[in-house]
Amino acid sequence: MEDRIAVGVLGATGTVGQKLVQLLDGHPWFRLAEVGASGLSAGHTLGELVSEDALPNQAADLRLSSLDSKWESPIIFSALPSGVAYDIEINLAEIGHLVVSNASAHRMHSDVPLLIPEINSNHLKMVDDQPWGGGLVTNPNCAVAGLALALAPLNQAFGIERVITTSFQAISGAGKPGPSAGIILDNILPFINGEEEKLAQEPQKILGHFNEGILDTANFFVSASCTRVPVSDGHLLSVSVSLAGSPSLKLVTEALQDFEVPEVVRGLPTSPDSALQVIKDEDRPQPRFDRDIGNGMTVTVGRVRPCEVLDVKFFVLSHNLLRGAAGAALLNAELCRAKGVSTGLI
Ligand code: NAP
Repeated sequence: MEDRIAVGVLGATGTVGQKLVQLLDGHPWFRLAEVGASGLSAGHTLGELVSEDALPNQAADLRLSSLDSKWESPIIFSALPSGVAYDIEINLAEIGHLVVSNASAHRMHSDVPLLIPEINSNHLKMVDDQPWGGGLVTNPNCAVAGLALALAPLNQAFGIERVITTSFQAISGAGKPGPSAGIILDNILPFINGEEEKLAQEPQKILGHFNEGILDTANFFVSASCTRVPVSDGHLLSVSVSLAGSPSLKLVTEALQDFEVPEVVRGLPTSPDSALQVIKDEDRPQPRFDRDIGNGMTVTVGRVRPCEVLDVKFFVLSHNLLRGAAGAALLNAELCRAKGVSTGLI
């Protein structure tokens, strides 16, 4: 008998939704049962709208519903644009679904955990205080995912005082259809709407201490400049950090290398062998060569060196669609199941 939990994917025709559909193929705990998209796509099968190469066989036959349909699956992944996600995510949580969202709509809500399981799995307790029969958990912005994983061991070991970062973000981060070839080829776009604000706010929530129902957000400023570059997948960030006590480069490198992942996370199906990997080669990490390490769930750090203005600087790379989106959401859903989060429907 099928004992995997039925899940739905909203935004299944989109860039992140398609990745989720792929990752759910053969998943040991979850079974893709329902897919949704806009009214324009509703009524079509997924296979009619998404390249067959990108789809597992059974998923191709699933028929897309519009958002106002009745959803049966206890767990609903949301890969919707933020404005669309706002109401539907709350509505689904109210009627008992566990909503696992990629969208930014509710990330900064005080009752909603902004999860990177390797860093803040205890924030999941926020779900207990949510006013809905179901629950809502979120994963961070795709560039924040890599940044926060690199900052976490430094904050833990020394305490972060200031961060300055410039991102070089892949085309797939823009969703579909993304910038046209005529705009992105031979070019760099020095503006991504709303992105710098997310880098300036989300890390402090992720790295905050949650105790007895109260989140004490980490106390540092992030100055972010975000660019779009002609790379298919993988966000690279140049990061400079000021640390309490100005530790030596050796101590900083050791802290990054020794980052420990909680036991409960290590056993999750989507958890990579190593969440954070320091690469020694002086010309790495590079998106094309390093984004797929750990099935796209390992964040790589390289060129750790002294900073002439703050204390230390380095590059961070993460796969925006995996560690930064679909893989992150799946890991969050796995954490919910492993920690026994129960909603009205599970
Ligand atoms: P996308 O490629 O533009 O896909 C959007 C999806 O939402 C499509 O399935 C689309 O369906 C559906 N949709 C759009 N308007 C809708 C409506 N009014 N009602 C119902 N469905 C609607 O976007 P994406 O890049 O996958 O991003 C999805 C979400 O994840 C966004 O909130 C984004 O900020 C977030 N995110 C993206 C990334 C990334 O790297 N791309 C990373 C982290 C988080 P149709 O095909 O029918 O239009």
